[in-house]
Amino acid sequence: MTQANLGAGPALHADPNCVFCKIIAGELPSRMVYTDDTVVVFKDIRPRMPVHLLVVPREHIPDLEAIEPRHEGILARLLLVAAKVAADEGLARRGYRLVLNDGADSGQEVFHIHLHVLGGRRMGPMA
Ligand code: 5GP
Ligand code: ZN
Repeated sequence: MTQANLGAGPALHADPNCVFCKIIAGELPSRMVYTDDTVVVFKDIRPRMPVHLLVVPREHIPDLEAIEPRHEGILARLLLVAAKVAADEGLARRGYRLVLNDGADSGQEVFHIHLHVLGGRRMGPMA
């Protein structure tokens, strides 16, 4: 895990009402475990698994309906970083689940896209 670059930086196209934009800007506290120029990773405030991390792009993209071709690199980075932090948490060998909730039926709560990294115990089938 890189510890040298954990400083907060501004969110791109930040939405002043968005809780994740505020975390990225350092206006709200979080337990940050990784940052780079494109994404940040912090611990979910209400963990549903022994490991529950959120991989969040710095750019405020509300949902998948808002993604554009120019976001291709960001979307790839979300997966690459999810795999890296999962490995850093010791999950690579035993496995883990990535979740992206999109829209009302999924229960999406924060409209700033993010991947959940969930692991640390055996999971049942997805609902
Ligand atoms: P969603 O349902 O949108 O996919 O997931 C949003 C997640 O963000 C939830 O698991 C919720 O616990 C988490 N969350 C909401 N507010 C905060 C916060 O202020 N800090 C952190 N660390 N997590 C949050
Ligand atoms: Zn946001």
